[in-house]
Amino acid sequence: MIRKLLAIFLFVFSTKLLAVTVLIDPGHGGDDHGAKGNYKSGKKSLEVLEKDLTLSIAKKVKDLLSPHCHAYLTRSIDKTLSLEKRAEVAETIKADLFISIHVNSSRTAGAHGFETYYLDNHDDAAVRKVEEVENKMSGGEGEEIIIRQILTDLVVSRTVTSSKALANSIHGELKKTLPRKFKLTDRGIRPGLFYVLALSKRPAVLLEAGFMSNDVELKKMSSEKFQDEYAKAIAQGVRDFIKVRFKPSVSLF
Ligand SMILES: [Zn+2]
Repeated sequence: MIRKLLAIFLFVFSTKLLAVTVLIDPGHGGDDHGAKGNYKSGKKSLEVLEKDLTLSIAKKVKDLLSPHCHAYLTRSIDKTLSLEKRAEVAETIKADLFISIHVNSSRTAGAHGFETYYLDNHDDAAVRKVEEVENKMSGGEGEEIIIRQILTDLVVSRTVTSSKALANSIHGELKKTLPRKFKLTDRGIRPGLFYVLALSKRPAVLLEAGFMSNDVELKKMSSEKFQDEYAKAIAQGVRDFIKVRFKPSVSLF
């Protein structure tokens, strides 16, 4: 009898997990290549574009999540996609969670490490530097900026608790792997005003894998091994979050 009940419970629970929809957003694409970096491989200098790295990582995350929930990509090829169009995809597929994947860059030589952002209003000067790059595609001025600020306020008040918990869950997994296996520095979880997160209108995080401006870090991030481990940690963090937040609504006992 207990076995039977357990089987029913597991069935309901797994069905519930599968009912969750996660949208993975590879940053940039097409005309917008994002950050650019170079690293040496033998005598060659290899150029890497952020849009290619983000797509490669996002595809791995999608493949890892697919057996456990509905996982989609905002783009699966190299194409230009506005922040608004990315948000439209979230509406169309009724995404529960939105994960935007990016790679950092800095004019400060030697800047390094990985970080995780969730949407929040703040005025941290260091964070604004990153936002300048990631919000570039959003354009707009005057009234449009005010409308965006109102939207951001609304979205923040509705999603900040979940977004923070999602950031904690993913970053917790990244922290277990990246410093140990790849000697990457943990720059922590930060609030950020990223319009793509506000526009998505759901619990969301934006991940900055490491720094493309740092050739040592870029070389690591370009490797298949790094991307596999990085994607695995993200997927695990998402799954843990889903298990806690999307509990089965049917009570069997
Ligand atoms: Zn980016």
